[in-house]
Amino acid sequence: MDFDTIVAGGGVVGLASARALALTGRRVIVLEAGERIGAQTSSRNSGVIHAGIYYPAGSLKARLCVAGRDLLYAYCAERGIAHRRCGKLIVATSPAETDVLRSYQASAVRNGAGELAWLGADEVAALEPAVSCVAALHSPRTGIIDASELMQALLGDLEAAGGLLALRSRVTAVSVSTAGCEVLVAGEDGGPLQAREFVNAAGLHAAEVARATRPLDRCHVPDAYYARGHYYSLSGSPPFRRLVYPIAESAGLGTHVTLDLAGRVRFGPDVEWIDGIDYRFGADRRAEFAAAIRRYYPGLDASRLAPDYTGIRPKISAPGAPAADFRIDGPARHGLPGLVNLFGIESPGLTSSLAIGEYVRELLSG
Ligand SMILES: Cc1cc2nc3c(=O)[nH]c(=O)nc-3n(C[C@H](O)[C@H](O)[C@H](O)COP(=O)(O)OP(=O)(O)OC[C@H]3O[C@@H](n4cnc5c(N)ncnc54)[C@H](O)[C@@H]3O)c2cc1C
Repeated sequence: MDFDTIVAGGGVVGLASARALALTGRRVIVLEAGERIGAQTSSRNSGVIHAGIYYPAGSLKARLCVAGRDLLYAYCAERGIAHRRCGKLIVATSPAETDVLRSYQASAVRNGAGELAWLGADEVAALEPAVSCVAALHSPRTGIIDASELMQALLGDLEAAGGLLALRSRVTAVSVSTAGCEVLVAGEDGGPLQAREFVNAAGLHAAEVARATRPLDRCHVPDAYYARGHYYSLSGSPPFRRLVYPIAESAGLGTHVTLDLAGRVRFGPDVEWIDGIDYRFGADRRAEFAAAIRRYYPGLDASRLAPDYTGIRPKISAPGAPAADFRIDGPARHGLPGLVNLFGIESPGLTSSLAIGEYVRELLSG
């Protein structure tokens, strides 16, 4: 055997899984198709450490977000990773929306996201004078993180534990048997790499890698859908100190205010279903963004908005269908020894990454 474990995908989830496995003494290699780690979804997101408010009770999203959040804050403190527990407001802009806030309060307590304080319009104005709403919830456990520093720390731990990273190494086929896993890499002439275990953390390409995995039955490969989200940056001095979210929509959390660690403000992401992986910004969406933003920030000067970047949610639920849970399939699910497939690791995947790593390790130890 060349390795104990091969991980396909050097995003935050692949790196966290590889680190968790390497810390058990396994010889681990991460095969990353790109020129550098984390260049896809892991660096095209809101950079928010979610508290765990929204997700259905008992779901993997709820459990791994709450566990991952605590692990992440502790890891950031231990490793000096830039982050800030800035808190977030979820705002109701009409009396009807206050019912939704009540439901968030209940699900936050159920999920372990912590108590969400109810704030009246005056209390919100005292905290965030630019925000207009009829009521809001305050989530003190929500924060922001430098995802790139997080991934560097995970890679550092992996390498310190003897693990390896190979860039420009795209997995094209996997063959699993009781003797182990054989993994073909594009452009490698030396034959397949061999390992006891294979973890498919290829993000937007996970279904493609699973379809190239033998003898995995097609019933264990979900359909992949892509929902692009656009971000606009706001020039000039930042009007907010906290994250500000409207009521969530069905495929995303709504066009919200995100902050980076320098305090700069961005708005996004919206939801646009697309057919393939395409990060181009496309049409000018300033008018739609301005309308969504002015519901809670009426003082917006739309000329301060500039297109920033996009990210693509790796969906496994079709447009209009209820949001799917994370799908992390181990041997007990598909019957193939040593294989774990991760599908639909959309938000809160960054927050959950360390807990997902532990979950993958448990699936392979069982
Ligand atoms: C718009 C948006 C906003 C988000 N905001 C947040 C947020 O605020 N907080 C939060 O917790 N989560 C957020 N998320 C979710 C979070 O970003 C993801 O869950 C997380 O980054 C997924 O990491 P990953 O490692 O699974 O995927 P990726 O980062 O996409 O990594 C997968 C890697 O696999 C590689 N790869 C692909 N195919 C192959 C192959 N055949 N062989 C080898 N390598 C391959 C790719 O090059 C890539 O680097 C957001 C997501 C989006 C889209």
